[in-house]
Amino acid sequence: MPTAPVTREDAAGLDAADPLGGSREAFCVPDGTIYLDGNSLGPPPRTVIPRLVELMDLEWGGDLVRSWTAHDWIDLPERVASALAPLLGVSPDEVVVADSTSVNLFKLLAAAVQLRPGRKVILSEKENFGTDLYVAQGLAELLGGEVSVRVVERSELMMALDDDVAVLMLTHVDFRTGALHDMAEVTGAAQKAGALVLWDLAHSAGALPLDLARDGVDLAVGCGYKYLNGGPGAPAFAFVAKRHHQALNSPLWGWMGHDSPFDFEPDYLPAEGVKRLRVGTPPILSLAALECGVESIAELGIDRLRAKSIGLSELFIELVENDLGDYGFEIVSPREPERRGGHVSLRHNEGYAIVQALIAEGVIGDFRAPDILRFGFAPAYLRYVDVFDAFRTLVGIMGDSTWDRPEFRMRAKVT
Ligand SMILES: *Cc1c(COP(=O)(O)O)cnc(C)c1O
Repeated sequence: MPTAPVTREDAAGLDAADPLGGSREAFCVPDGTIYLDGNSLGPPPRTVIPRLVELMDLEWGGDLVRSWTAHDWIDLPERVASALAPLLGVSPDEVVVADSTSVNLFKLLAAAVQLRPGRKVILSEKENFGTDLYVAQGLAELLGGEVSVRVVERSELMMALDDDVAVLMLTHVDFRTGALHDMAEVTGAAQKAGALVLWDLAHSAGALPLDLARDGVDLAVGCGYKYLNGGPGAPAFAFVAKRHHQALNSPLWGWMGHDSPFDFEPDYLPAEGVKRLRVGTPPILSLAALECGVESIAELGIDRLRAKSIGLSELFIELVENDLGDYGFEIVSPREPERRGGHVSLRHNEGYAIVQALIAEGVIGDFRAPDILRFGFAPAYLRYVDVFDAFRTLVGIMGDSTWDRPEFRMRAKVT
């Protein structure tokens, strides 16, 4: 049965009833911009600007090196880990905040292989994000053929879980389609086969409720600058379940991962638990920004955020399905909200140019090769009317073929 078209007034009504209605004010999103790319780079929370000014001016610029103690810089990584732990559903001493997601992947993959001696395979799926697969391939190369990377289609993962698999490495929310793995089910299956599981939570942390402890997860990594709004290149995180701490070995023995870095002992002695995954001096400016970012999400409540994210993406999908017209788009994200992460993706042969045309009109999404238009519905700073307006903009540029201008076909370095 055809439903009545959704109007802008309908969307405004949803905003009026939204318990997160005022939260947009807490973030810097320019007027006239509809930001559907918080899954790539979250916007700054307003708190971050005064915090960084204070840090630069009074701490770094005032107390200089004394700030490591006077302003407790040295414990900042742990403070951020503690703020993050509830969003992951784990205890604070199972999380370390350091380095990038790629580097943490390397450290945890190497550690995982050592935790499963005799097993020689890192298993992953073809659609996984580039860095995950490259890091695994590089590690295998470094280990001189002792370990190999097995990459299969998603539908073949369970069959590929044999006695050789040391670790199953997957991204929880697919970066292209937004499809969500069943974390508990996949983790259980891998462990039943004797393997460890390493989840990449780049598109999960801060986007949806996680309960790594309940789901029995062994290892995880994730990103600080996407849904956690920690700033460009923000430090990433790594999680290791407590049961693996004793035997955990980092492949990078830096002084900050030493049991007592300021004793300057000639020999390495690992710090307790996940702290041994630290390598070098923590980036204080970036960590301070990330602390504001994590707080900005934690205080809004992850369950409320998830519920609104589903509301926003359902509205978008409904508009695309019912009102977009026949321009050759295909929805590639799962239709059921509980099987999706925070973004919705469309496929179109002219995806790159269409995304550029949208950006020129103030609707910022992104493009992922070969033909995916990706729209992130980060609910902390998006309104239902933004979804409606973004959709109308899409209809507009398709209707008058604005997208088909030569300038929209010029590929930038970053898509
Ligand atoms: C964004 C993203 C990363 C980013 O890794 P960096 O080391 O921060 O560049 C890693 N994995 C996935 C799945 C991502 O989406």
